[in-house]
Amino acid sequence: MKDEIAGVIFDLDGVLEFQDKVYPGAIELLDSRRGKGVSIRILSNSTLKSRKPCTENLSKKGFAVYQHEVITASFAIAQHLETLNPKSCWVMLKGEGLEEFRNLHHDPDNPEYIALGDFRDGFNFQNLNRALRFLLKGAKLVVMITEITDNNMGELELTVGTYGKMLEDAAGIKATYIGKSNCYIFDSTLDTMGNMERSKILMVGDRVKTDILGAGRAGLKTALVKTGEFQEMDLKSSNITPDYIFDSIREVVKLFQRSQPIEEDIRGC
Ligand SMILES: [Mg+2]
Repeated sequence: MKDEIAGVIFDLDGVLEFQDKVYPGAIELLDSRRGKGVSIRILSNSTLKSRKPCTENLSKKGFAVYQHEVITASFAIAQHLETLNPKSCWVMLKGEGLEEFRNLHHDPDNPEYIALGDFRDGFNFQNLNRALRFLLKGAKLVVMITEITDNNMGELELTVGTYGKMLEDAAGIKATYIGKSNCYIFDSTLDTMGNMERSKILMVGDRVKTDILGAGRAGLKTALVKTGEFQEMDLKSSNITPDYIFDSIREVVKLFQRSQPIEEDIRGC
């Protein structure tokens, strides 16, 4: 196994760190893989974060990472929108993630596209109704991520997917979803890794229905870690089977330490 993995894509929140605390063994695992010439990517479904400060923040915490190795949902969605070349857009998002949309023409009064990200307290009665009316007049909806709840801020809260579904139902339209588990963000990440064989790339994630489902569909190997947003019921209630299951990121190193085929205890299937 250790010689087969040429690239590793790590989810960030819930895998390498959670609620701003780095998990033990995460920095060392990245360093050891990099030392072996393995291609590294960090793929976050965060819309609030942008690549540059996210990279700087990781560096401060001790991770040796480069900006080109960090893919946030905000970056992937901005890239996607740029390829569509919209006349105008309303990016419903707060935080650093907005920086990624600097090349687009913003017109919140007459948008051709609405890009829905983590708008925090902007998800209010007025803004959601405005969005609904634009959609009924023909605007298109791009939803940055599918997740409906999130724990990363320290308390369970509704997140982007909830509002996306609400607007889809109310307007009777279908949105395009970009972040994990959708193919777009995986294709976008894999494009940055060159012509690497997909079966030689491992995705390490904590969410069964986004990281593991999406990576499996993309043809990648998958390792689930039981930290962060992991919930046992997500695994039991789905037909999704990770290739490997670990208690935490620190355990993932076992994959690379064994010269023999992986034993049953860490296989997910
Ligand atoms: Mg996660």
